[in-house]
Formats: sequence, structure tokens, C-alpha cells
Amino acid sequence: MSLRFQAINNLSKDQATAKPVGAKITALFGDNVFTLKTARQFLSEEGYKSLVGSIKGGKKIDRAVAGQIASGIRAWAESKGVTHFTHWFQPLTGSAAEKHDSFFTIKSDGTPLEEFDGAALIQQEPDASSFPSGGLRATFEARGYTAWDPSSPAFIMEIGEGATLCIPTIFVSYTGESLDYKAPLLKALESLNKSAVEVAHYFDRNVSKITATLGWEQEYFVIDEGLANARPDLLLSGRTVFGAAPAKGQQLEDHYFGSIPERVYAFMRDFENESYKLGIPLRTRHNEVAPAQFECAPIFEEVNIAVDHNVLLMDVMTRVAKRHGLVVLLHEKPFAGINGSGKHNNWSLATDTGVNLLAPGKTPKNNLMFLTFFVNTIKAVHDYSDLLRAAIASAPNDHRLGANEAPPAIISVFAGEYLTRVLTEIENKVGDHFDEQEEAVLKLDLHRSIPELLLDNTDRNRTSPFAFTGNKFEFRAVGSSANCANAMITLNVIMAETLSLFKKEVDELIEKGEKKEVAILHTLRKYITESKAVLFEGDGYSEEWEKEAERRGLPNVKTTPLALDALVTEKAKHLFEHNGVYTHSELEARHEIELEKYIKKVQIEARIMGDLALNHILPSAIKYQNVLSDNIKGLKEAGLGEEDYASQLRILKELSGHIRAIDTKVHELIERRKIVNNMTNTRTKAIAYNSEVKEPFFDTIRYHVDKLEHLVDDQFWTLPKYRELLFLR
Ligand code: ADP
Ligand code: MG
Repeated sequence: MSLRFQAINNLSKDQATAKPVGAKITALFGDNVFTLKTARQFLSEEGYKSLVGSIKGGKKIDRAVAGQIASGIRAWAESKGVTHFTHWFQPLTGSAAEKHDSFFTIKSDGTPLEEFDGAALIQQEPDASSFPSGGLRATFEARGYTAWDPSSPAFIMEIGEGATLCIPTIFVSYTGESLDYKAPLLKALESLNKSAVEVAHYFDRNVSKITATLGWEQEYFVIDEGLANARPDLLLSGRTVFGAAPAKGQQLEDHYFGSIPERVYAFMRDFENESYKLGIPLRTRHNEVAPAQFECAPIFEEVNIAVDHNVLLMDVMTRVAKRHGLVVLLHEKPFAGINGSGKHNNWSLATDTGVNLLAPGKTPKNNLMFLTFFVNTIKAVHDYSDLLRAAIASAPNDHRLGANEAPPAIISVFAGEYLTRVLTEIENKVGDHFDEQEEAVLKLDLHRSIPELLLDNTDRNRTSPFAFTGNKFEFRAVGSSANCANAMITLNVIMAETLSLFKKEVDELIEKGEKKEVAILHTLRKYITESKAVLFEGDGYSEEWEKEAERRGLPNVKTTPLALDALVTEKAKHLFEHNGVYTHSELEARHEIELEKYIKKVQIEARIMGDLALNHILPSAIKYQNVLSDNIKGLKEAGLGEEDYASQLRILKELSGHIRAIDTKVHELIERRKIVNNMTNTRTKAIAYNSEVKEPFFDTIRYHVDKLEHLVDDQFWTLPKYRELLFLR
């Protein structure tokens, strides 16, 4: 019996239930995190103060105190049964990396002992030669080191019966270039803080720190593990490269917000509880649009922590699913013909005085502050939309962007009807000359406070890749499997740059003798005029928008290899260097790494297609051909005439046609891959992987395979079908 039928047979057996936890969420929350509250308990006064100084004020922790902190963290971890620790980091592979060491050591006199010293807390040197470095670090100089990021708390990861202390770290090369997502993210956030505080001072001198906030919405599919195991494509690439559309897909829209299937519900509760212990503040869970698709979302947090929590969550979900005999698919487009998965990044800016800078205020003064940050965001997105596009570019996301259920590859901003009107008024009512009268007009407009209803009014357009949703922007084009850091580095750095430019321009006007408010409004007006092309309120999925966007001169880069070009323009190099995020060589290395990732992913999919076609699809089809030809032979021998086996003949012919097409195309694909593999320039190779391997072959081969799926006897078909993957659990 094929794996497919075994999996179907086993389906109802061994379905795990959620581990019972009677307690309230607050009783679990943060249990496995070295929070400041825990720190207070386990650290000396000096250690505690130093840690707080580092978290709140970015102060360096000196080595001597680090030793105390390390012992405190170990004492806490041991009280929870931890024996090993690891530096936990986010290399550019996308998922988290860890290498466990035990506290256990042996002294020179032979005495065994448990130890965790300051040096081990602060810095480690993992053998880093196998992580992507984009040529920054030759393999003979494999040394890279991980360095403690005190701003993200240490936590304990429980795997089965074991527990490991994880220290969040950055990962840099021996010569200091960053090799991960966290180091540049922290730099971008620092740069943003500086520029944003300066601009906020126009309105409020009490602001001394501005943090970017992130609330991600994680979409994912859940399918039965046995069925997934019978699909080599899912196993190796997270995506089905073949599969005919089932009679029922998502057309009835009966899954969205429907009741959560029990088996998935048990899984959700389990991974939520693990997440709570890790301090991940999950809040929302629901069914998504496609069958077998779901979503969860936390309460938003400071960006660095939110990114760590999302990376952790993806890991936790994947592991907990196994316990339930399920598989989580984080891929952007696991199934053709139904929705793919995204990870909306809700983003805003918060002051240390407790103000959300992207929430419209109640007073005119607050509204001007809101408008300042609102308009600056629009300008940032307008000026650097190519970089935002690059930040979300990946082989899997290419399958989703621009498909008719996902944001297009055109980056535009949805502001909502009300605010669009406000922007237009500012643009039209502020003249080119400054005078008293204008000031009065402006004051008038701003007095009309922006209604609180806004929250409900703005969220209707689901087709925009970058939408204002009342008190935050929502970057919707981010892929479900992505590390949010990529999008967050870019968004925060372009915001930092735009705000510092804004400050410069306003100051120049003030120096010329303009009143502060007038200077601000005139600069905002200029920005609105310069960036209004990026504003779009209509249906982002429509063809008209593509045409309209082209007229407006907005970029529409559909494939990753070309989208990544934006990373290495002079403009990008200046931007990232000016904000202290990437040097030119770091940026070039990222470009190279992303291209390589693209190549490898398409290459893997191409190989899978070949393997499946030759080892699964063709053998099944040929088996069925034999049945038919035996049948025809038998009928002939029995003396029946041609009209009696005409249908069998027709099916036989159809089978032969598809078999021939698949065989030919797969061999051409293999030959073409060999040619492309010999290309030496990474960019050329990545482009060729798209235009010479993926585009001419993937859809064609799939077309014939999916036709065969409809023709061949179901008993012979070895790969679980879409109806089984999506509806059986
Ligand atoms: P929807 O599906 O309607 O977009 P959700 O409730 O699923 O809304 O997700 C909204 C996300 O936005 C949540 O993670 C929420 O915490 C987050 N969010 C709300 N306010 C802010 C903010 N000021 N900054 C960042 N994220 C925010
Ligand atoms: Mg949302």
C-alpha cells in the first residue's frame, strides 16, 4: 500500500490532545523568561542596576558585573532544571541557530563543577563557516562571533524533557561585519530613535526615546503529518509543486473565521501555552480564508523583541505540531489555486512619554505631530519603495505577490478616505508664500479633530501592501516564512533618513525666520506633493492598478532577482551607510546572499519536480496505461468492435500525450539547469533560474501532471491529493 493510503488509514489514530494547563495565562506568562522581575530576585543590586542600565539606556555592562549576571542567570536556569546553554542567533538562513554547551566543566584538579562565567554570557565563537556570509568571510577565516544582546531577555527553551538556556545574541564576523538580522536591526532602530526624537522635540521636549513597535500576524497551514510525509515536495520545499485543484477549494468561503477544527485547536492551545511561557504575548487565533489555513497574532511589542518572538514562535509551532501528528507549513504558497500566507507587519512609533505617534490626536497640536509622522512615513515609502520591495523579496514570496489574492509587487500606500482628504487640503490650501492668513487657515483645518471613528473607517482596503489602519501602518507584503527583521530594518532606516531630512528642511525655514508650525506645514505640503503618487485607495489586485501604477512611474518588479537590485544602488548604499546600518561591503554581501538563497530554492524545487515526475507520476500513469491496454486487448480477443473500446483508446492516447510531454519537458529542464548552473555571476544565474528554469518549465510540467491526476485510476496515484491534504484531519 502506498504511503498515501497508509496515511489516510492512520488518520484517526493517535490524535493528541492539548496538554492540560488549568491556569490562567497570566500564571504561565513569561515563566521561562529572565524578566527584570526575575533578575531582581537572582541578581545582586549591582548586577541588576547594570542590566537595567543596559536595557533601558543602552549602557555597556562591564566584564566584572557580567560575571555576576551570568551566575544569577545560571542559578535561575538551574532552578528550572537547565543543564545547557546556547547563544541564540538569527543567521541569514532565516531560522534561528543554536549550539548547546553544558554548564558542566572540570577544574584543573579534576573536580567537576557547573559554571557559567561572564565571558560565556557575553561572547561565543561558533564555528561559523557554514552560515551564509556573501563572501564577507572566507571559509579559511571561519571565525565569527556571537555577542549578547541584553535588550532581549534570556529564555529557557523546553524540548521534550530537556531545557536549554538561550541567550539572544547578534552574530558578526571576526572583522565586525554583521552576518545576521539582529545586528543591523538594532542599528536601524537606534538611528530611527535619534531622528525621531529630534523631530518629536518640535512638539514635546519631554520625549527622550522613541521605539518602533511591531505586531505581526502569522498565517500558516496545518496538515496531517502522515499525508505530508507522503509528499516529498512538501517535505523538502514546504510547497506542493503538483496537485490538481479539488472540486471544492475556498469558493464557499466557509473556512474563514469558521469554528476551529478540534485537532488543530488542541495544537493551537499547546503551542500558545509554550509561547506564553516564553513571554510571547499571543492574543488572536482564527481560521484564515483557505481551507487548512490559520492565523495567530500577538499584542505588539518593541520591534527587536517582536522579531525574536516571531522567530521563536515559528520554531515552537513547528515542534509542537509534531507532537500532534501535524505539520505546520509556513511557506508563502504551499498550494496553487488557493490563498497563500503572509505575515502582516503592523508598525508604529511610540514615545517614552506614552504617545503613539501614528495615532491621530485630540488637539490641533497633537494632530500636527501625528501628521508629521504620518506624512514622513508616506514620503519614506514613496522614496524608497524599491527597497521595501527588496526587503520582502524571496523565492517563495514570488509565488504569492501579485497572485490575485495577495498584495501586488507594486508598493503603494493606503491612507483611507478621510486622511487622503486632509492631505489634499494641506496640499491645496497652503500657498507657495508664507503669510499670516495661511497660518490661520491651517489652524482652522487642524482644529477639526480627526474622528476616533477613523479606526473603523480605514481598515476596509485589504488589497494594499502598505495600509494605514487607524493608529499604525500595516506592511502586508511580508511573506509568512520571512524573518520580519528584513522588512523592519528597511522600514525603520528609511523612516530615520526621511525624518532627518525633514528636520533639516524645517530648521532651514525656521532659520529664515519662519514660525515653527508654518515651517512644518510647508515642509509637509512639499512632501505630500512629492510623494502622492504612492497613495492608492483602489483595488490593488486589479489590472487597472497595474496600468495606473505604470503611468505614475511606480516600480513593479515581479521577480526576486531583479527586485534585489535595489539593495546595491548608490542611493541604497548611501542610505544604509549614512544611518550606520550597513557598510557598502555588508550591503553587497546581503545582495549576494539573497541571490544565492533564491537560486538554491528554485534549484531544489526544480529537482523535486524532476524526481516526482519520474518516480511517482510517470510510473502511476504507465501502470494505468497497462490496465487500459490489457483491457483493450481482452475486449478485442473477445471479439468486440472498436466502438466498444473507443473510450479506453481515447484515454490511453491522452495518457500517452501527457506522459510524452512530461518526459520531454523534465529532460529539457534538467539540461537547462546544467547550463544555468555553470553560470558564474550570481545575479545572472539567479535571473536565469527564473527566466530559463522556472518560467518556461514549472507551469508546463505541472499542467500535464495535474491533467494526469484527473485521468489516472485513483488507486494508482501515490501522492496525497489536494482534497486530502486540505480537508482531512
Ligand atoms: P487585523 O487582522 O484586523 O489586521 P489583528 O488584531 O489580527 O488585526 O492584528 C493587529 C495587530 O496589530 C496586532 O498584533 C496588534 O497588537 C498590532 N498593533 C496594534 N497597535 C499597534 C501599534 N501601535 N504598533 C504596532 N502594532 C500594533
Ligand atoms: Mg491585519
